[in-house]
Formats: sequence, C-alpha cells, structure tokens
Amino acid sequence: MSPVTTKPIIAMATDPIYVGTGGFTIGRVDNTIVRDPITRIPKIPGSSMAGTWRYYVALELVSRIKEKQPDLNDIKNESYKSFDGKINQFIQSDKCDSFWKTKADKEWQKYCGNLIAKITCAGQDEPNQEINNPQDKSGHCGHCIVCKAFGFSKKDLSNQGMLFFSDLNILFFPVYTRLGTKWITSKRILKENDLLKEEFEEKEVVFVSKEEKDTSNHINLGWLNLPYEKKNIKIDLSKLKSKINQNDIIIVPDSLISQIINSNLEVRTSVSIDPIMGVAKDGALFTSEAIPRGTIFCGDVRAFAREGGNSLPELGDIWSALNDSGQYYQSLGIGGMTTRGFGRMEILGELS
Ligand SMILES: [Zn+2]
Repeated sequence: MSPVTTKPIIAMATDPIYVGTGGFTIGRVDNTIVRDPITRIPKIPGSSMAGTWRYYVALELVSRIKEKQPDLNDIKNESYKSFDGKINQFIQSDKCDSFWKTKADKEWQKYCGNLIAKITCAGQDEPNQEINNPQDKSGHCGHCIVCKAFGFSKKDLSNQGMLFFSDLNILFFPVYTRLGTKWITSKRILKENDLLKEEFEEKEVVFVSKEEKDTSNHINLGWLNLPYEKKNIKIDLSKLKSKINQNDIIIVPDSLISQIINSNLEVRTSVSIDPIMGVAKDGALFTSEAIPRGTIFCGDVRAFAREGGNSLPELGDIWSALNDSGQYYQSLGIGGMTTRGFGRMEILGELS
C-alpha cells in the first residue's frame, strides 16, 4: 500500500476571494492577486490552504477540549516522573489512555498529544523555543494532532508534517451573459481534473447542453462576443453538490480562458480612513481585484503516513479533523480583507 493518500478538495467561493501577492502595483489595480505563472489564471495557493486549515483544526480542537485539559502543573505533581522533558513517553504510555481518552468526545480529539494542545499551535511558531517546555504560552506545542499533521519547527526538533496541500485552481468560473450567469471552463481544466467523460474536438465556444434554448449563434462572455455551438458533452458534476448544473456550463478554448477570467474578475475600490480624523486620507483610494463569488475551485490534499508508531496520529483521525473544521471557511474565510466582505468559501462535501 502506498504511504501517500490523496483526496480532492472542491470548494465554492461564497464571497469574492482575495489572496494578495503583497507585491507592487502593475496595471489597473493596486492590490493584485496570486496567479499561476504560466496560464496567468488566478488561484488560491496551497500555502494559504495549509495555514487556514491548520488554524481551523486548532480552533475546533481547543474549543472542544479546553475545559477538559489538565493543568500542566497538576500532571507534574501526579508522580508522572517522565513528564518533564519527556512528554512523549507520557503520551505513549498507557497512563495517557486512562488520563485523557475518556475525556475527549471525538476519536481524533482523543489523540494523546492533544492534552497539551493550545490555540497557538496554529499560526507562526517561535523557532527558538525548546520543545516540551510546558510553561510556554506561545508557539507550537509539538505534540498535538495539529502540530503533528501540519508540522512544527523547534530549536531541538522539527517535523515536516504529514499533510501537503496543492493550490486550489479554478474549475468553473462564473461570467455574466445575456442568458444569465454561466460558468466557463476549458477542455484542459476538465481533463486535468478527470471530469470529462468523453472526447470532443476543441474549436470554439461550446454550450455543454443541446437543451439550451437560445437560437442565436453568439454569446457574450463579459465584453467578448463569441460564436458558439451546442454539443451534448458529459461532465462529471457529482462532486459539486448541485451547485451548478450541466446547462449552465460553457467550455471555452484554452487559448481564451485566461483572458476571459482576467477580464471578469471583481474589482473593488476602497478608501483608507485616517484613524485620527475619521475621514478618508488624501490619495488613499485603492483598488483590489478578487475572484468572484460563485467560482468553483479544485485541488487536493495529500497525506503521508510516516513510520512513527504511537507518536503520530492515524490518518483516519487527521481526515476527521479536517472534515470537522472545514465549516470555518464559511464564516472566517480565506485570504485578505475578510473584514471588508471578502474571503468566505464553502468546502463541498467531505474529504473521503
Ligand atoms: Zn500543538
């Protein structure tokens, strides 16, 4: 059996999504978003996925077990001699079973390392910290399912983590047309994601369903007006939870999709407010581009089951941890400007 398991992630933007490059200004917008360097199609980088999902697993875990966690000084007094500097031993001993497993509700939360989990297991670590110092209130604990699954880096020990997130690429992109909102995609995108059930010749814009009632032969995709044909092309939409339907999909040539996406991004203008005067600062008008609401993304997460015995959580527990915390994307979102109405997203379906 391969030690690597891959599971697809399908997600839909429920707000415009802005993951900025943090770079400089080129062209018409001040704040540009991350793009694939070859296709120039915007994407959500895997590093953003890993960072946010790590935070959401820590949030879910700590909110469920906070009341149940022992005071670290209490454990020390409990004659568990091995605690100081050797918490690993404690975690792997049968003492942990009696001490901790009865307390947590869900299987993945029962993992023994979780008894010292804290919210700072998400976010940046303090790289100079020594591991196993129970007095540390900051940085990663180095033992819990968050630290083991996503990795940590300490002065005397670092761990690469078991999860690897790919970028989330655009699978279907909403464009306003005279027939209402349609979702564009391309043959390459469908093939790469294994969604195309049959071959077809890619020449021009194709309406995926012959049932489309429009009888003209042109369709406007944003400001582009293009000739189209209708074909019955079977696309596997089973993982999309009925968010879009076959009749609303238009396949555009690979040579055009980047241009259509980039000319239909959401562009918003904001002003910076002077915090003392409470008025807009001079010259503080700025524009930001974002991936629009309704965009469907596809990517994957790979888990690497390393040899680690009891000191590593089981993969099944890691998948449960991700599934139980994915709903935070719907409230807290991803990327920048989440306080300005950006960033919320829905993970469609469970990782299975
Ligand atoms: Zn931790």
